Amino acid sequence: MSESYKNYVRGEWVTAESEATFDVIDPAQSDEVVGTYQQSSEADAETAIAAATAAEDAWASTPGPERGTVLKQTSDALADRKEEAIETLVREEGKARSEAAGEVQRAIDIFAYYGQKARDLGGRHKASSSRDTDLYTKVEPLGTVGLITPWNYPIAIPAWKLAPALAAGNAAVIKPATAAPGPTRILFECLDSAGLPDGVANMVTGSGSQVGTPLVEHDDVDGVSFTGSTAVGTDIAETAATERKRVQCEMGGKNPTVVMPSADIDEAAEIVANGAFGTTGQSCTAASRAIVHEDVYESFVEKVVEHAEAVDVGAGLDDPDMGPHVSESELDSTLEYVDVGREEGATLETGGTRLTDSDFEHGFYVSPTVFSDVSNDMRIAQEEIFGPVLSVIETEDFDNAVELANNTDYGLAASIVTDRLSEADAFVDRVESGVVKVNEKTTGLELHVPFGGYKDSSTNTYREQGDAGLDFFTATKTVYRN
Ligand code: NAP
Repeated sequence: MSESYKNYVRGEWVTAESEATFDVIDPAQSDEVVGTYQQSSEADAETAIAAATAAEDAWASTPGPERGTVLKQTSDALADRKEEAIETLVREEGKARSEAAGEVQRAIDIFAYYGQKARDLGGRHKASSSRDTDLYTKVEPLGTVGLITPWNYPIAIPAWKLAPALAAGNAAVIKPATAAPGPTRILFECLDSAGLPDGVANMVTGSGSQVGTPLVEHDDVDGVSFTGSTAVGTDIAETAATERKRVQCEMGGKNPTVVMPSADIDEAAEIVANGAFGTTGQSCTAASRAIVHEDVYESFVEKVVEHAEAVDVGAGLDDPDMGPHVSESELDSTLEYVDVGREEGATLETGGTRLTDSDFEHGFYVSPTVFSDVSNDMRIAQEEIFGPVLSVIETEDFDNAVELANNTDYGLAASIVTDRLSEADAFVDRVESGVVKVNEKTTGLELHVPFGGYKDSSTNTYREQGDAGLDFFTATKTVYRN
């Protein structure tokens, strides 16, 4: 029996006005409903916005250390419920248990981190040209913020938006992704038990076009932070700009790993395979293009195919190397791209099929896929696939490799595998990407440093995480006090 869950508005668990609901299913066992959630409407979102607006002044004037204590207690409450959060995450989103454990721990750490940051918030005194003037800056919250999050990191991303928003003194309304709202619901149970005042944070589930629209357009929403696809994020950024709202959109990627001949090719293949097939390729930072020097191209393809074929695919709760796709539509989209790759003339080296054996028959499983003979202008090398599909592209030299790496609309994460420091440094300088790594996979982030993309991967105005994560949620006032 699955349970039915409500929205969290003004400190209470409430049903949607229409009383309509939707089911969330287990991607490893699609005949099982994991939970039933509120199919909310624009009116429900507006009620939540009104609750947040009513609470924003009192929360803004609550001393930072007091706000920080609530965040720390939220972190502690989530730590106490870690196993339940992991299981919910796996059963809704599908990723391997150890990946989910890392993600839940990240959410615990993020709340503790911003709990501490709430104590450090403040402006700066500056020397004034006038002897009589006290010149300083003051940091203020924006007011009420709308947060819209994707399904692929269904607790880490809500945490990395909510925690800095609340630390800075904002009130918030969040709309988690329809495919996996459960981890956000647990986060709200923790905020509630930590004593967050009513109305300061609100959660409304339901479709993006219904619930998301007021979060972007409503006059009482002062800032919009979105993570998701470039198509949706671009529309949101344009609408918010028209309304003169502060907006931050973190979006898709087509992330390259360059492999140079000085690299250890075994190690390079392992780095690329981990970046491509971890989280079933459903990471914005997943390695989807390997740009490999011609001298080592053939041996690299051989090794990376070996890695792909060794990936243990299975139900996330059994902690395999790779779980299923989150939904049938995501699986179908990946399989369509496999057809596109074939039609474009790339060589399918391995994978590219739906797994249908008895172990897999009720899940959305695909085998890890490697295409070789890919040219960088093919659709499979340009469009975000969001599945475990790697395109291997041959390059003649370092300059051409950098050119190919940059030849995409995206610019989220990039890496290079090389034994030469000069190549590593030149790559860091020349690649157009918000995150650059050397001898590491493109995926994986630390919580205390900025994260965000270049080009179509981001609105590229504010970064998330670390100190930078607070910038979006604060305004600076400059005071001249004579
Ligand atoms: P998505 O379809 O764009 O959805 C993201 C969120 O936006 C969901 O909550 C969705 O609601 C909502 N939404 C959809 N249409 C909307 C609208 N018209 N107005 C307002 N909200 C709307 O993305 P996704 O499939 O969940 O996530 C995968 C994408 O996210 C990939 O492109 C990935 O690269 C990107 N991503 C980027 C980062 C990053 O930091 N750069 C991190 C993770 C993921 P529903 O769930 O109800 O559709």
